[in-house]
Amino acid sequence: MKKAIIFLLIFISFELFAEQPYVILISFDGFRWDYPDRGISPELKKMEERGVRAISFRPAFPSKTFPNHYSIITGMFPENHGIIMNYFRNPNTGEIYRLGDTVSVRDGKWYQGEAFWETARRNGVKTASYFWPGSELRQEERRPDYIEKYEHKRPYRQRVDGVIEWLKLPWEKRPKFITLYFDATDSYAHRYGPESEETNFAIRQLDSLVGYLKKGLAATSLADSVNIIIVSDHGMTEVSDEKTVRIDNLLTGYDYEYTGGGPIMMIDAPKNELDEIFNLLRSKEEHYRTYRKENLPEWFNFSAHPFISPIILIADIGWSVEAGEKRYSSLGNHGYEKDHIDMHGIFFAEGPSFRKGFKTGTLWNVDVYPLLCEIYGISPRSNIDGCLERIGFILSER
Ligand code: AMP
Ligand code: ZN
Ligand code: ZN
Repeated sequence: MKKAIIFLLIFISFELFAEQPYVILISFDGFRWDYPDRGISPELKKMEERGVRAISFRPAFPSKTFPNHYSIITGMFPENHGIIMNYFRNPNTGEIYRLGDTVSVRDGKWYQGEAFWETARRNGVKTASYFWPGSELRQEERRPDYIEKYEHKRPYRQRVDGVIEWLKLPWEKRPKFITLYFDATDSYAHRYGPESEETNFAIRQLDSLVGYLKKGLAATSLADSVNIIIVSDHGMTEVSDEKTVRIDNLLTGYDYEYTGGGPIMMIDAPKNELDEIFNLLRSKEEHYRTYRKENLPEWFNFSAHPFISPIILIADIGWSVEAGEKRYSSLGNHGYEKDHIDMHGIFFAEGPSFRKGFKTGTLWNVDVYPLLCEIYGISPRSNIDGCLERIGFILSER
């Protein structure tokens, strides 16, 4: 009898152990959809042959870093998850959310989505993050089980080594879902432009890290069990200082406030001046478009949130709208409408959960959250914008 119980326990625990898949979700910031075709990323090429590659990966609007990383991990558009820009203001309290400010980025009240690591933890899946926007919240239960706090200069190989160390933990402590993040392609392309040799250097550098990760995995017993998904949050386009519209010159004498600048700007003003400001900006439209928040076409999915200002300006691709001297000059930027192909990123996936040698069209980044839920066999939140029907076909048959 005792023996039978022991056997049963071993069997049950074996089943449990065997059941949880592994996923490493990697973000290459600003890796544009067409960079893999420059012939300088052999590791991505191998992933394409052995796994899934999408022609492009559609971001949410605005095509900025924080809104999109949070869309990928929650399955929601920024208008619903609340991280509407890298920098924005709560008009009721005047409080500010800002990418570089560790106090606001760790404050859970700004984050209205449920990140996949929250869903996973609730369902008994251990999670970890070697950097991801939204992973450092002060509320313990809203974070992954293990986190590293963002450090821009942390050496890249050290990040990969950290992931491998997590995977070497004993089973019950080992995270089964891990995120990893690298900025190089975004940083270099802002500075030198997407067509530059420097950006090509960053592409090669990030690609080689995939090889480094796989080598690390090979030294564990998990090489064949781990799924690797590589995505980017948005693409990149060439910009120049000459292609700038100065709206402060159009709005002299008006009492307005603005948020953003470059590809997108939000404008607020006293109620009695809003119509006039809107009409003026619209009548002078050149290289940008002017919208009332409530009239922004539906496909932007950028109207619902109360922190979105009443007037939204969207620059034409390659142009910038500014309300003063540009603070810094750059040769590349993003944030433009999500349907311009330059704003699209990459999606590659390889591992036991994915089809092999499967090329598909454009995937949407909000669909990654339900995809992850499907891989782990757990229920997604019902209030998401993502949809398994648009992405589930990349999974291998079960
Ligand atoms: P963007 O202005 O949209 O190009 O933002 C890109 C920048 O976001 C990167 O250069 C990083 O410095 C920053 N960043 C990315 N992830 C994080 C994070 N988890 N915490 C703080 N900053 C981050
Ligand atoms: Zn980014
Ligand atoms: Zn950027």
